[in-house]
Amino acid sequence: MIAEVIVDISTSEIDKIFDYEIPLSMAISAGDRVKVPFGRQKTEGFVVRVKESSDCKYELKPILAKLDDFTAVLPEMISLMWEMSEKNNLRLVDVLRLFIPAMMRGGRVREIKRHFVTLKEGVTQEEALSSLKPNAINQRAIIAEIGKSGEWASVLGEKFGFSAISALAEKGFVSIKDVTKRRAPILKSVPDKIVTLSEEQKAAVERIMRGEKSENLLFGVTGSGKTEIYLSCIGEVIAAGKTAIMLVPEISLTPQMMGRFRARFGDKVAVLHSGLSDGERYDEWLRLLRGDAVIAVGARSAVFAPLKNIGIIIIDEEHDGSYVSENNPRYVTHEVAAFRRAFNGAKLVLGSATPSLETYKRAIEGEIGLIPLRNRVQSKKMPTVEIVDMCAEIRSGNNGILSARLEEEIGRTLKEKNQSMIFINRRGFASFMICKKCGKVMKCEDCDVSLTWHKSDNLLKCHYCGKPYVVPDRCPACGESDMRLGRVGTEKVQEVLEKKFPGVRILRMDKDTTRRKGSYDEILSAFRMGEADILVGTQMIVKGHDFPNVTLVGILDADMSLYYEDYHSAERTFQLVTQMSGRAGRADKDGLVILQTYSPRHYVFAFSKDNDYPSFYRKEINVREVTNFPPFTKIVRVLVVSEDEERALELTKKILFKIRDYQKANEKDFVQVAGMKSPVKRIENKFRYQILMRLTRQREDATLQKIYEIVNAEDKKGAQVFVEINPQNMN
Ligand code: ADP
Ligand code: ZN
Repeated sequence: MIAEVIVDISTSEIDKIFDYEIPLSMAISAGDRVKVPFGRQKTEGFVVRVKESSDCKYELKPILAKLDDFTAVLPEMISLMWEMSEKNNLRLVDVLRLFIPAMMRGGRVREIKRHFVTLKEGVTQEEALSSLKPNAINQRAIIAEIGKSGEWASVLGEKFGFSAISALAEKGFVSIKDVTKRRAPILKSVPDKIVTLSEEQKAAVERIMRGEKSENLLFGVTGSGKTEIYLSCIGEVIAAGKTAIMLVPEISLTPQMMGRFRARFGDKVAVLHSGLSDGERYDEWLRLLRGDAVIAVGARSAVFAPLKNIGIIIIDEEHDGSYVSENNPRYVTHEVAAFRRAFNGAKLVLGSATPSLETYKRAIEGEIGLIPLRNRVQSKKMPTVEIVDMCAEIRSGNNGILSARLEEEIGRTLKEKNQSMIFINRRGFASFMICKKCGKVMKCEDCDVSLTWHKSDNLLKCHYCGKPYVVPDRCPACGESDMRLGRVGTEKVQEVLEKKFPGVRILRMDKDTTRRKGSYDEILSAFRMGEADILVGTQMIVKGHDFPNVTLVGILDADMSLYYEDYHSAERTFQLVTQMSGRAGRADKDGLVILQTYSPRHYVFAFSKDNDYPSFYRKEINVREVTNFPPFTKIVRVLVVSEDEERALELTKKILFKIRDYQKANEKDFVQVAGMKSPVKRIENKFRYQILMRLTRQREDATLQKIYEIVNAEDKKGAQVFVEINPQNMN
């Protein structure tokens, strides 16, 4: 028999399938990982097909070994590989790598097998004890210890000596087997709250599981009981002997949230997230593959969980940008989920309070089902949102970062012993350092972006590559000693609050305070326990955390995300304000949100104040249609990256030229084609050029294939070229 093998070689452009002979002694099936000779070396590879004969002219080399004692890639995933490779223009091997734990390649992580000691079958504890001599103290102790469930040899050996174990084995009282020792991630246990679903929740479960549509948008504000609906659907699916995938944004994968799943489903849950060690990740993955766990809970990469017979896939906070992978290989979680849903005949649920425009459009046009949740659980009220005009503040003489209203409310909240959360979309102390005299802005040498001053370690840091710089005491361009700081960040806000409210206890959460593993959860749980009065933070504090004592939310400079040079900035701002508002007044206390802005009459704020997503949608979708932006068009960016600027420019021009040629013959398929430097010209010392296109949607697939063809035909020596579709981040 012959195996078609994709060799796992990282550096080369090789993405061909090679035939190898399967030795008679070896049982090989599609999806197995194997060791094969390749050129003069040996390498790992994936078997994608097994066949009778080969068309190959030369003599085939044999497979050297099978690498695992299981089949790592399911048949479904091999189909998915073909699909993703074609649609996203990815190398086959890059797609396959998404399907297995990274450290499995090269055998860098394996299952741990250890000796495990149990009573030999047919032997009872009493029998063993009565036939052992009274002075065989250690052997008797071991028999007593292992009881019915057994124990690791290492544990027994430590306590009672290894010779006692061997003696017992020789006498035939115990047996020693190699058993997998699982590296289990530590999960906080939370008590399982058994709730009775409301009528609205029950109806939602009904429609998801037995409704007309197999894909549904579950549209409900935070606290409307979506998670309870997920738990209930998953419970049903598991009871029917099927499996489930539950996806949440990495940042919402809090111990609380994982604990809730663990409490309900126990060991049937495997978690996959970035905080796991390589060993833990591997063991959790293997439990899913072997069917020991049947629910995968994790961030976007968990969409590739090695589960068979999937009954439901849930994408919570479906609008979240993290579902689009921006690193190579680029993919969109929703598309993978849709493929797996169809393959398995499963249900797909997209949950959100602020769905992406694209998803909501599909829902109201009837392509997928729309399940609105109109009430918060137990009729909790939505918070009041108050908009403060910061221009008016300045006119009345307040140049500070806190409006009079917000300051007053923080004071009141402190007095009432409740908690506040203050959101600002920038970390550090100030966004940049500028010379007052010549206007020089301090920039990163490698990245062409301005540096941010970090007060606590008095350094300037690059937020792209992390490189630190010493703060200059004079302007490096003109020698002026008066260097001024630009806009404010989290650190500055903390300082201002500490000055205004002496004795206030503040926790800060941003990339700087959460660098250490576990620190993110520590800050959140300290805040939940009431160890601080105010939590100041960036994006990180926005997502689904439930703090019963928070009654005030302050949003500083809500415009910041509004004026990004990006077509979805209005959508992003609406999401942010809505989510942030969802933090206030979750328990029995009423919530207040104070939103500071320089454009108080912008429609984003008017609609988010009333929590009116449908009206926001109607307005925004109109804007998109008139201006020809997604979802009415598709944005495609070809990004060319090279250490050699000339090379990047030359390659960009070549590709642009060919695309323009194609465009001329197919005017109707394009709205726009533009070549330019990327907004950030240089990152980590690599120059970046881009071609930005908007495609009309009638023939988008064909046009995209043509673009891939053009890019693939180009010699890319000394450069990298990425094709991105609707990129979330246009740096
Ligand atoms: P969401 O995911 O929409 O934010 P959750 O499912 O987390 O909402 O529900 C919010 C809170 O209300 C949770 O503490 C949850 O346990 C509780 N809850 C949800 N549904 C019910 C119910 N039917 N009865 C009582 N409590 C509920
Ligand atoms: Zn940098």
